[in-house]
Amino acid sequence: ASITPAGDGPAAAGSGEPLPVLGLDVTVPLADGRRVPYAALDQAASAPVLRQVWDEVAEYAPYYGSVHRGAGHLSRLSTELYEDARETVARFLDCREDDQVVFTRATTDSLNLLASALPEDCRVYVFETEHHAALLPWRGAGPTLLDAPDGPAAAVAALERALAADDDGRPALVCVTGASNVTGELWPVRELAAVAHAHGARIVLDAAQLAPHRPVSVRELGVDWVALSGHKLYAPFGAGVLAGRADWLDAAEPYLAGGGASRRVARREDGGLDVEWHSGPARHEAGSPNVVGVHALASACRVLTEAGPDLLAGREEALLARLREGLAVLPGVRVLSLFGDDAPRVGVVSFVVDGWDSAALADRLASSYGIGVRAGLFCAHPLVRHLLGGRPDAAAECGEPDASPLNAVRASFGVGTPVEHVDRLLDALVDLVAEVA
Ligand code: PLP
Repeated sequence: ASITPAGDGPAAAGSGEPLPVLGLDVTVPLADGRRVPYAALDQAASAPVLRQVWDEVAEYAPYYGSVHRGAGHLSRLSTELYEDARETVARFLDCREDDQVVFTRATTDSLNLLASALPEDCRVYVFETEHHAALLPWRGAGPTLLDAPDGPAAAVAALERALAADDDGRPALVCVTGASNVTGELWPVRELAAVAHAHGARIVLDAAQLAPHRPVSVRELGVDWVALSGHKLYAPFGAGVLAGRADWLDAAEPYLAGGGASRRVARREDGGLDVEWHSGPARHEAGSPNVVGVHALASACRVLTEAGPDLLAGREEALLARLREGLAVLPGVRVLSLFGDDAPRVGVVSFVVDGWDSAALADRLASSYGIGVRAGLFCAHPLVRHLLGGRPDAAAECGEPDASPLNAVRASFGVGTPVEHVDRLLDALVDLVAEVA
């Protein structure tokens, strides 16, 4: 039902060229009144929209209609697009035949949905290094927190120890990131999944930062679920995904109660309501779904698949090496790393600069150079505190980078980043480092 066939992507697979994204011609004002093209280097927060995705959304817009509700032509078309999008996402993630793709608002929503569907008495294991979206949704007794490991092998060993220590037959879930939103480092997901399964536990992959940079195969990694966000995957609008095993989701109360999730609702003689809920993705997607966001997300999946892994990984690695080599020769710059300098990573680099408060440095990059980065603790407070040697009671809070010098600068890029943006950042840092020398 695609309105625009995926067709020839704008960038040939493996061409080494950036994929066309929106926003490259946006100019921003500097403190001195000049305007310069914006360099979007905070893509780990939200990535620029792929041009082809935007074009497909614009093409669909006149055909926009209600999903699963109307008999009219546009309603049927929208329903078809929405359901096709599930298949596109399932292919993009290389899901198993019987996996479910549930559309959510974003990764946070996906992990909260899974948290709401845990079987009774389920234990949850999370490394303290996770993003808050993966640390916090597990209510009840809370998760077992695993210490920050100093390498992938240590992470696997720590999980093995923790699961072996309380292997009591209760259900268990491990939640792990595929790529850190602070260091960009890749986590040993396949090995962690093997350990989890050896102990009868399940594992959910937080692919919010992995999927925009590397192909994700549910089958190859052996994970039970994967969560991701469209707005980090070069799509606009609030759509995300929880994909994976159906059983826990079908056994759980609907995440949202309402129309679309219910198969049959009837008033009982005693005045109460009899409700029969759907199984399958509809069970957790009550209300009118975000068909435009989902269409955009599926379109991004198609564009990235067409571009191929060379573009996702190969080109990015060249940019990453350029950035890291540039930072390495700047005096007083320390790049944050949990697993060590040689660890494989995606295009996310956090650093601190001697003599600079990170928030002030990020402000100067914006106001004097038109470069957008982020400063703070990146919604991963325990990890950033660990990396900066801060105490757990340190005062800084996410979103309040001024509260404490305990923060860092993060530069992150993606498939549309031109090499000049990385060079502009390095040139600006040369100036700013010299200012405090
Ligand atoms: N997990 C990781 C690793 C992230 O980086 C983020 C966002 O920064 C999230 C989860 C949450 O994603 P969202 O804000 O799209 O729900």
